[in-house]
Amino acid sequence: MQLRDSDHFSLIGAGLAGPVMATYLSQLGYPVDIYESRSDMRVNSQSAGRSINLALSQRGIRALKDIGAFKKIKSSLIPMSGRMIHDADGNTHIQPYGQKKNEVIYSVSRSKLNKSLMDHAEGKENVNLHFNYDLKGIDFENSKLNFQNKNIPFCRVLGSDGASSKVRASIIKDSDIHFSKRPLGHGYKELTIPPNNNSGFQLDQNALHIWPRGQFMLIALPNFDQSFTCTLFLPMDGDNSFTSLNSEKKVVDFFKNYFPDAEELIPNLSDEYHKRPVGKLATIYCDKWHYGGIAAIFGDAAHAIVPFFGQGMNASLQDCTVMNSLVKGYEGDWDEIFSKFSDNQVPNGFAIADMALENYVEMRDSVNDQKYKIRRQLEFDLENKFWDRFVPRYSMVSFHELPYSEVYRRGEIQFKLIDSFIEGIITKKKLYADIENKLSPIR
Ligand SMILES: Cc1cc2nc3c(=O)[nH]c(=O)nc-3n(C[C@H](O)[C@H](O)[C@H](O)COP(=O)(O)OP(=O)(O)OC[C@H]3O[C@@H](n4cnc5c(N)ncnc54)[C@H](O)[C@@H]3O)c2cc1C
Repeated sequence: MQLRDSDHFSLIGAGLAGPVMATYLSQLGYPVDIYESRSDMRVNSQSAGRSINLALSQRGIRALKDIGAFKKIKSSLIPMSGRMIHDADGNTHIQPYGQKKNEVIYSVSRSKLNKSLMDHAEGKENVNLHFNYDLKGIDFENSKLNFQNKNIPFCRVLGSDGASSKVRASIIKDSDIHFSKRPLGHGYKELTIPPNNNSGFQLDQNALHIWPRGQFMLIALPNFDQSFTCTLFLPMDGDNSFTSLNSEKKVVDFFKNYFPDAEELIPNLSDEYHKRPVGKLATIYCDKWHYGGIAAIFGDAAHAIVPFFGQGMNASLQDCTVMNSLVKGYEGDWDEIFSKFSDNQVPNGFAIADMALENYVEMRDSVNDQKYKIRRQLEFDLENKFWDRFVPRYSMVSFHELPYSEVYRRGEIQFKLIDSFIEGIITKKKLYADIENKLSPIR
């Protein structure tokens, strides 16, 4: 490929998605300079931001495999085969995520993954990482990136600078993009279940643990050091909220009341509770992700979502995979590449945003309903019978790579069919016939 001067990329943000996009582009021969506001977390130990660990699934794995980074990270993954539900009375049961052996999601350390992806990108000779470069805005007229202390010329810019993206803000200033940020009204706080005295896990390490309690919940994901990171999701205000739990006694009483089995496993609960910050949750909806052939946004900058489907990073890495195939398909036609990227991905961003919001209600409330359990079993039975047509929505999201908007569309058809069958509106024969008629085979 003959490179032009304009084929150089400036990429803002070296979080989880930025280094992956840079590596994809470098593999196609494009030079990339990455500018990151923080210092280098590989040198100065610092938090990688937000959650300590996260769930990696098929869409993310695909991208990591494509760029050749999966092998390195594989040994740091802990498989989680299902949700371990902790009832209020202390009983537990497992709800498998899928029914095939490989249908598991993986717990991974955010900082380990981020560092590894930076190393991987930096290992490419045409990728350069620059730290302590805090973008303030973009001057599109003069093709300049405005950083805190200097202005740097650019040819083409990609923004993966997270939920409060400055690249997005600069594009919006110069165009007619519609953007909204919808706060959830709930936040989160992380707590730790340390290893036991024999340096072992205190809970089943191959599950994602959930304590569903209606309006709020506690979850826990395993770490490589045999600890668990718990995340408490609570309303910001009102009863049982981050505002109302404002004393040591209230916090301990709250845990003893709602999560007694977890409370026993978290030493220094009130200390840790008061030291750890409350993270706020919101959804970003943005109806266009590019500015001509000059700039594009992806990852949380384009579609920050609430974390209840474990898909924010996976969706962000899938953005990179989609961009890669468009760059290959429309070589050098950046107007076409960026506009196709936006047209393809905006509906997918909206779809996963909505599914993530719906999943909060499922995780904190519905997982213990009898109706939910009947529905889930029926989904698995139908998947066994119609394996290429009927795939439960959770599985389509986590174990397949279908565009999220297509997952949403198929999921709605499936929900309606199942509801009609459970409520006795349609017979089993009609259910089977409708699956054949309404759901095309998934390729
Ligand atoms: C509590 C919680 C749990 C989560 N769990 C999961 C999960 O289990 N699975 C999952 O798939 N996703 C999960 N996510 C979502 C996931 O964290 C994000 O979707 C993912 O980090 C997005 O990657 P990104 O690169 O777009 O943004 P980020 O990872 O946020 O990276 C943005 C980068 O840009 C840099 N930056 C910001 N502003 C500037 C600037 N002005 N100039 C230069 N650099 C800048 C930042 O320092 C950062 O390095 C979770 C999120 C939260 C909050």
